[in-house]
Order: sequence, then C-alpha cells, then structure tokens
Amino acid sequence: MQKNEDYRALEARYYMPAFTRDTMLVRGEGSRVWDADGKEYIDCVAGIAVCSTGHCHPAVTRAICEQAKRLIHCSNLYYVPGQGELAQKLVERTGMAKAFFSNSGAEANEGAIKLARLATGKKRFIAFTHGFHGRTLGTLAVTHKPAIREPFNPLEPGCTFVEYGDLDGLKKAMNSEVAAVFVEPIQGEAGVITPPDGFLDGIRESCDRHGALMIVDEVQTGMGRTGKWLAIQHTRVRPDIVTLAKGIASGFPMGALLARDGLEFHKGEHGSTFAGGPLACAAALATLKVIDEVMPQIPGKAERFRAGLSKHHPRVRGLMVGISVGERCPGVQKRCAEKGVLINCAADGNIRLVPPLVITPEEIDQSCAAIRDALQ
Ligand SMILES: *Cc1c(COP(=O)(O)O)cnc(C)c1O
Repeated sequence: MQKNEDYRALEARYYMPAFTRDTMLVRGEGSRVWDADGKEYIDCVAGIAVCSTGHCHPAVTRAICEQAKRLIHCSNLYYVPGQGELAQKLVERTGMAKAFFSNSGAEANEGAIKLARLATGKKRFIAFTHGFHGRTLGTLAVTHKPAIREPFNPLEPGCTFVEYGDLDGLKKAMNSEVAAVFVEPIQGEAGVITPPDGFLDGIRESCDRHGALMIVDEVQTGMGRTGKWLAIQHTRVRPDIVTLAKGIASGFPMGALLARDGLEFHKGEHGSTFAGGPLACAAALATLKVIDEVMPQIPGKAERFRAGLSKHHPRVRGLMVGISVGERCPGVQKRCAEKGVLINCAADGNIRLVPPLVITPEEIDQSCAAIRDALQ
C-alpha cells in the first residue's frame, strides 16, 4: 500500500497543486480515521462538516451498496428512486415547501441565484463580508474573499458586500433592484462567526420591505449541525430559499435547494444529469434517519466542547466550534495531528471543529485535551 511519502511524490508530479496537504487518509470508522502510515486520529474535520454520521456508518454504507446493486443511475428523465421521499423528509423537517437537488453546495447556490432571478425579474444581489457560497463563477460573485474572487472579475451577478452583522449597512445597500440577500446564519469558512442578535430578523424585514428574497446558505450549518435541522430554526425567521449540501448524504456528493411555497423551477428552467441520483438519495435517506436519532444528543455534546475548551473562549453552536488563535493556527493544527486529533484552520486564524454528529463524549474529551495541550 502507498505511504504518505510515496503519495507526496505522485501528486507533486501529476496533480495540480491547488491544495496544501501532506497526509492521505485511507480508512474511517465512526469519528476515527487512519492515514496511509497507519496513524489513528479523532476526526474533528469530518470532511469539513460532511461526514455527519461519521465515517462509513453501517446504515449509510448498506444503503449505498444495496442501491448500487439495483440501479446506479437513470437520469431525471424518469422518476428517481428515493428522490420524492427525500424531498418530503427534508421539507417536513425544515418547514419549507419544495426541494430540488444538486451535486454540491455551490450548485445548490447557483440554483438559488437562478431561482431568485427568475422569481423577481431582478439581477442584483447582496452578500456579506467573510461569507462563502462556493467557487463556481456565479457563487464566487457572491463570495466575499477578494483573494479567491478577484482573479475572476468581472463576475455575474453583480453583488454588493455589506459588513456581516451590520443592519444599517444593509439598509443603505438595499433598494428595489435587489433580487436577493445571501446569508450564512453562522459563517463557517470564516471560522464559526456568529452574527449579533436580531441580525437575521433584520435581513428578513429589509428583504420584505424591498421585495427581495432571503437566501439562507445552510450548506455547512444545516442537517443537524447546530442541534436543529437548520440553524435558522433557532430564530423565528422564515427564509425564501435555503441551500444544503455538506452533511446531507454523509459524504456522497449531494446538495439541495429548498424553497417556500410558490417559489419553484418550472419546466426546463433548471436541471442536471447527476443531481438527486439514486445513490445520493439512498445515502441521504439513510443519513437523515441517523441524524433523527443523534439530534437530541447535540446540545449535551456542545456543552462538553464548551466546558473542555472554556479557557480558550470557544464559539460553540451545536457541533460547530470556533476558537480564535491568530497566526498560531497552522502550528496548533500540526501539533493536534501529532497528538492524533484532526482540526482545521478556517480563515483569519480561527480553529474550526466540525466533528461527526456521532462523536462520543470520550472522543470529545480526548479532542479537547489535545487542543488544550497544543495551545499551551
Ligand atoms: C462549503 C460551502 C459551500 C460550497 O459547497 P461545495 O460543495 O464545496 O460547492 C457553500 N456555502 C457554504 C456556507 C459552505 O460552507
């Protein structure tokens, strides 16, 4: 079998160097993963909030394998096994009206941009500083980070960026030409940044006043991550469109767009070859069942992280944890890995923990101990 070292050489020669990485993970079980050299880790990255049910959850693996024996692909020219059931279950859990599937978070947000433009007949968008909505050309246009957006200017749709949390700024930027406001209820890529109280309600009001849609990007915060199906469900805000991806199918590529009553794509307005295919739907249906079971445990697990890391002032929202450590971040990440715990440096020197929702109390304690050590 390949070792980490062999793989470095192979990639250096044949793979485009768009990532910073030096370890290959070859196996996972629950919240544990093993690298190519056989080293074991507790995985507080979980594919960046993707492996919600842990690695290779038996129910998810079984659902994928069983579906793979029956039908792997059939095209959206036909009803797809599991697609309607999954749409129903997502709609019931989120209070939205209809679903449409995609293969990724960016694609779900592309769908949201298209739907907002179709529904409002308007073209301008508002999004927030430090927000992240994807790397396709459309979603980059509403993604703030200049370093990843500006090389691709000019971008469509036109977007105005307002300081995250600044309702006055939003009021100034809003006008009757705005199709929609894109917002993450908690900013994930920025490092688990939470908005001030009332911010999301304020966006809703402002959108209503100007006939704009409110698009809530729950690609990272959704699917139980914060202890509810959607982070927005911790507020009274009813969004027009919600997007999901990451944790939706335990690592099988999938995204979803959920819309309120009356907002939908009509014949020919949107589509995709692979989206919402039989394997993705089977993986997602099995994932939903597991999340239904673990959801009640999430507040307790969150408290355990909060207590274990209290000295370092963590921002804890369910199983999303951010700690500001500044430029020490890469070093802390490296020391944690040496101690057998995978963590991730999000933007601006913020450690981000987004472990599987099935992480055990013992694994939380071990992770916190390693992080405390690494931060000494
Ligand atoms: C990861 C992420 C995306 C992009 O999802 P991809 O599947 O990588 O395209 C969009 N929005 C948010 C909030 C994310 O965290």
